[in-house]
Amino acid sequence: MRFGPTEISVTSAERYESVAGSRWPVSIMPAPGELLSSWLHRLAYANGIPPHYFGTLLGAPGENWSARLDRALPDRILQFLREHTHIPLEDIAALTIAPDPLARLRLPLRASPQQSCAPKTQATWLQFCPACLAEDETPYFRRDWRLATRVSCFRHSCRLRDRCPSCGQGLAPFSQKRLVPHQICAWCGAALCKRIRPATNGVRRLERLIDDLLRLQASGHRMAEGRSLPDLLGSACFQFSRRPMSIARLSHRDRYQLFQKLAEGRSTPFEKRRSSAIIYWKRVVQAAPAWSGLVTSFSDAVLPRPKAGPCSTTAGPHLADLVQAAARLDQQRQAL
Ligand SMILES: [Zn+2]
Ligand SMILES: [Zn+2]
Repeated sequence: MRFGPTEISVTSAERYESVAGSRWPVSIMPAPGELLSSWLHRLAYANGIPPHYFGTLLGAPGENWSARLDRALPDRILQFLREHTHIPLEDIAALTIAPDPLARLRLPLRASPQQSCAPKTQATWLQFCPACLAEDETPYFRRDWRLATRVSCFRHSCRLRDRCPSCGQGLAPFSQKRLVPHQICAWCGAALCKRIRPATNGVRRLERLIDDLLRLQASGHRMAEGRSLPDLLGSACFQFSRRPMSIARLSHRDRYQLFQKLAEGRSTPFEKRRSSAIIYWKRVVQAAPAWSGLVTSFSDAVLPRPKAGPCSTTAGPHLADLVQAAARLDQQRQAL
């Protein structure tokens, strides 16, 4: 591997090439739900290349290179990765968030990571659960953490973070020029897995209902009159700092406060103009307290009863899975 002033080149030694072919020394399997950029950073680290230079090696130089690939992975880079990792194309492509039916609710990616971490009221491109990073055998970042409607971890019931707990900057693992893993802040070198407070039950109920509804949308269930749920939720504006802001433009702190106010029925910074988007948000908030009970009744009716054993600590079945199970049951009944 040679580092030049503007580029990096990697050539296989003759003996290595005869044994391993085009394959890089270490192949990293993607983790469940992993984001492409996270896998690329792990792949770079495992093969001894700091992420900043790995983007150049892939032919995707520049700021935020890996986060941009999350949203649009060119075919030539996809082929290049398959050739050097031997991981199937479809497995690599599945790590991206493209095509993205939830685009309206994705956290924004700014042109420069410097901009993304300036004021604390600004949204950053990626969130994370410190407990997940601390618990992972190999810490990795999840695709769901790029959604503005996610403010807590369903597994650990704690809040997410969107900034380094030590220096307060947004994450910039793509800028890392040293060979350190991506759960270390690229700005200050501190570990990102510092514990954070739990999320309240009300916030978690509301967040879980929205997540269920979005999964239904993503799995092909459509709202009446062809309306798009992500567009409805994403187009509503809230008053923050005297400016109307959609949820995707808010920092995690402001989004968490918004969910808390909604869940507790306190006055919320809805825009004064009554829009269908605001009305829909209010309906979702009203439905949230009863939602988990409804899902439990539904799952009791549709899914086989679990065998006796220790209680699971997971968040339970997703509504989209329940609806599919109900549809299958209905088809079986009709066939009989
Ligand atoms: Zn977690
Ligand atoms: Zn930091």
